[in-house]
Amino acid sequence: MDCPRFLELLHPWLDGELDLVNALEMERHSDGCGACLAESAALRDLKARLSHGALAFAAPPGLAARIRASLPVASPASVPPALPASDGSGSKRWRPWHRPRARLGAAGLVSALLALALGFWAMNAGFRRDALAGEMVACHVRSLQADHLFDVASTDRHTVKPWFTGKLDFSPPVADFSEEGFPLVGGRLEYLGGHPVAALVYRRHLHVINVFCWPAASGDNGRATPKTLQGYHVVFWSRDGFRLGAVSDLNAEELGQFVELMKR
Ligand SMILES: [Zn+2]
Repeated sequence: MDCPRFLELLHPWLDGELDLVNALEMERHSDGCGACLAESAALRDLKARLSHGALAFAAPPGLAARIRASLPVASPASVPPALPASDGSGSKRWRPWHRPRARLGAAGLVSALLALALGFWAMNAGFRRDALAGEMVACHVRSLQADHLFDVASTDRHTVKPWFTGKLDFSPPVADFSEEGFPLVGGRLEYLGGHPVAALVYRRHLHVINVFCWPAASGDNGRATPKTLQGYHVVFWSRDGFRLGAVSDLNAEELGQFVELMKR
């Protein structure tokens, strides 16, 4: 196998679509060719990144059902006979696309695609919010796991707020809520959606609350329903031209109380 042939088969190989003989040849070639090995490693890495949490979106529950519901109902004549119990051979499985009568009509296909497009259009904003919430949860988890909760550890907002000066091109609103049972414990820089944001860290008993803050984009109405991702609650709100989002494993009720304090 030569390099052009290797590159030609690289995608199907990594997708596990090659037959054994070709797959073995691919392995043999990449073992002996540094350039092709590097190329396949880079592509593997890209695939891994793309399938990772913040970038990969699962279709929301019910989407398949909604698309199915939008398809034309089959007339009785086109309904296939009941299937015999599967014998596992697979050869007798009913394949609708092999049956002309059961094929989707062009109109059905168009309406299905239209429903899909409309669905995606409506969900796009939700997806972006979900992606952001996912990134925030990832940041939150990382800050706890890596024991990198703050770059500046202080319960004094007069220490935390100036710390951000020169590191961000905005000055996040920083307040301490020790008296209300939500002490400020520090702050750090984070990146969300490719932009540097302020992360303010609060505690409630043993729970950590990460509050992310960045300037609101124009046209951002700030409304977003609270979400629960991987067991973490995510709440968004807006204030004084800022967008804020809190992430915590604290129960939703107390996190809500905290957010109300932050909104004041
Ligand atoms: Zn090669």
